[in-house]
Amino acid sequence: MPSVASTGSVVVIGGGIVGSFIGYFLRREGFGGAVRVIERDSTYRFSSTALSAASIRTQFGCDFNVQMSLFAARMLRDIRTWFGPDADVGYDERGYLMVGSPQTADAMRRGALRQNALGAAIDILSPDQAKQRFPWLNVSDIGIATYGASNEGWFDAWALLQLVRREARRLGVEYVADEVMAIDAADDRVTGVRLADGTRVPCAWCVDAAGPAGGQVAAMLGIDLPVRPRKRTVFHLKAPLDGIGFPMLFDNSGAWVRPEGAGFIAGIGPDPANDPDADGDFEPDHALLDASLWPALAHRVPAFESLRVLRAWAGHYEMNLLDHNGVIGPHDAIGNFLFATGFSGHGVQHAPATGRAIAELIVHGGYRALDLTPLGYGRIRRNEPIVESIVY
Ligand SMILES: Cc1cc2nc3c(=O)[nH]c(=O)nc-3n(C[C@H](O)[C@H](O)[C@H](O)COP(=O)(O)OP(=O)(O)OC[C@H]3O[C@@H](n4cnc5c(N)ncnc54)[C@H](O)[C@@H]3O)c2cc1C
Repeated sequence: MPSVASTGSVVVIGGGIVGSFIGYFLRREGFGGAVRVIERDSTYRFSSTALSAASIRTQFGCDFNVQMSLFAARMLRDIRTWFGPDADVGYDERGYLMVGSPQTADAMRRGALRQNALGAAIDILSPDQAKQRFPWLNVSDIGIATYGASNEGWFDAWALLQLVRREARRLGVEYVADEVMAIDAADDRVTGVRLADGTRVPCAWCVDAAGPAGGQVAAMLGIDLPVRPRKRTVFHLKAPLDGIGFPMLFDNSGAWVRPEGAGFIAGIGPDPANDPDADGDFEPDHALLDASLWPALAHRVPAFESLRVLRAWAGHYEMNLLDHNGVIGPHDAIGNFLFATGFSGHGVQHAPATGRAIAELIVHGGYRALDLTPLGYGRIRRNEPIVESIVY
């Protein structure tokens, strides 16, 4: 790819956490041309970023996911160095506790050792050790637990979005409140985008950072990107249990739960046979509570037997149906159209590394800090998944 270090202009479609980090890092990497982030809903009401559980973990099966999280964890810890003395994203580094069955214990042990070799800090616990450390945990049917005492926890995604937007704007990134309706291309190059108000915005580079609408945006160029909006419900709970010292718990049933304020938030994926594309559907799936979430939570932590739901909300994962991993980098034929979507439930924590990666591609013509080539569009074209084994 040719370098365009200080000329040309970039259009980023979508101004959520991913699009905003792209704008921000373009400037930090020295891009001097115009950067326009087109966002159709400046309230972000339905954006994944605003509806996210905003948790971060280094316990992933793919190396690049571990490395992207480690970059974000360092940024969250040093948030004031990045965004100034008033920056606060409420980073709560209380770790992920993952429990596994006796059958998956060996694979989880190997996974944790690999994560540690990459710089993570994961403790491998026997069931007895897990019980000692987390007395409220039912370990009767588990074979292993892994716990990341640092680089893992949760934060305020909304606060992070506001900080990045503020800083991007200060650096000269322009946010345009409009919707991209069409993308113009000629001779295998994007030449510009067309907005709902009729304006045409020319560009040398165009980035698809449209989150759950990432597949729809790619379709504007006739590209089949298997990224679809899939609904995920979050329940806000009260339970007779002290949240102090309680981590993000990821159960082998697929249920997850973590403290939030004076209570907890929790969720579980739907039955894969009942997980349709969710365009426009933000109605919480209340049936999940009785059908699967509550039994799973009460089994693993008996105090959740008497939980009480305070409220529930639903957001959309930008689900990459091929392999649950992000798609980052240029299209193989239309080289100035770049993807930054498909994170399938881990895009808030991977937004900083994604923004940096896209900026490096545009400014330097290749990756510098972290080689994300495996996440490129090539695997989609070849239908060769790089499966992330730890998803929920
Ligand atoms: C319930 C839930 C829990 C989650 N939990 C976590 C978690 O714990 N940790 C984690 O890392 N991730 C989590 N995620 C995933 C994470 O929220 C997303 O991966 C991330 O927010 C994606 O950011 P984004 O900027 O790509 O998408 P978004 O925040 O959705 O932003 C995309 C933006 O593009 C705009 N847009 C779309 N089409 C157009 C168009 N044609 N023109 C102009 N604008 C357009 C939209 O309005 C939107 O604001 C969760 C997601 C959900 C739904």
